[in-house]
Amino acid sequence: MSQIFGPVPSRRLGLSLGIDIIPFKTCTLDCIYCQLGRTTNKTIERKKYTTSDEIFRELEKVLGEGERVDYITFSGSGEPTLNPEIGKMITGIKEMTSIPVAVLTNGTLLYQSRVEADLLEADLVIPSLDGASEEVFRRVNRPHSSLTISEVIRGIKTFSRNFKGKIWLEIMLVKGMNDSEKSINEIKKVAREIKLDKIQLNTVVRPPAEESAGALGWQDLERIRSILGKRCEIIAELKKLEQKAYKGDIEEAILTMVRRRPLTLAEISSSLGLHQNEVIKYIGLLEREGQIKKRIHQEKRYYIK
Ligand code: SF4
Repeated sequence: MSQIFGPVPSRRLGLSLGIDIIPFKTCTLDCIYCQLGRTTNKTIERKKYTTSDEIFRELEKVLGEGERVDYITFSGSGEPTLNPEIGKMITGIKEMTSIPVAVLTNGTLLYQSRVEADLLEADLVIPSLDGASEEVFRRVNRPHSSLTISEVIRGIKTFSRNFKGKIWLEIMLVKGMNDSEKSINEIKKVAREIKLDKIQLNTVVRPPAEESAGALGWQDLERIRSILGKRCEIIAELKKLEQKAYKGDIEEAILTMVRRRPLTLAEISSSLGLHQNEVIKYIGLLEREGQIKKRIHQEKRYYIK
């Protein structure tokens, strides 16, 4: 499977060309809301899973096709800063094109000076912070045993002071887990000390790793937005029409497949030849419309009509 996927329509980044430099579900966290399921390799060890040369070769080819791309985005199957080549990749991409580079990260390794240095050349960094107490961190993000929330927060704060690009702090809100007034006020206090441009509120709109991870309603999101102040916005759902205009036949292809037999995300992705991160968006839409359902069987998640 290719390391570069898209461009896919993104709620925040327009048409985003994704770069995935980490094996599936290799992450420092195991968030209960993760749309990719449970983390199978929880680690803080950085490894050259994909080399910068591979990425440059592939990217040159994709950019040569001339499709519109608004952002080149490091995101995908796990935590991108776990690849120590990320700094070299960002620098190389900046030499290759003027398209801005974004990094979606859980921010947990920014306390390491090498990781901090690696992201300094990016144009936009979107770290997540779902809670500011150890209790919420453990409950929602189930971190690697060596991580503590105070160190993570310290890393994000220091990075924000040294970084020249934009920072959008993402908070993923999970019903009953990190949405109390106390929890939001703790985040607010920390956010004041981070040099950021926006706070973005998200909730569990795609199938989560754990059934217990529920979404907040619009009213609750609004309540929290007003607590966090004017730099805070709710990330609006991508309108179905925009997706239709982009790749109208993908949903139909998924429906045709799951009509025949139950399939996992990996099976659907590989049949369509698309990255799992791209396919999950369509699955999320179909699920919310009630067109497909999920079933858990022997710890695996299947989709059925
Ligand atoms: S949501 Fe992101 S940070 Fe959390 S487990 Fe999934 S890939 Fe890792």
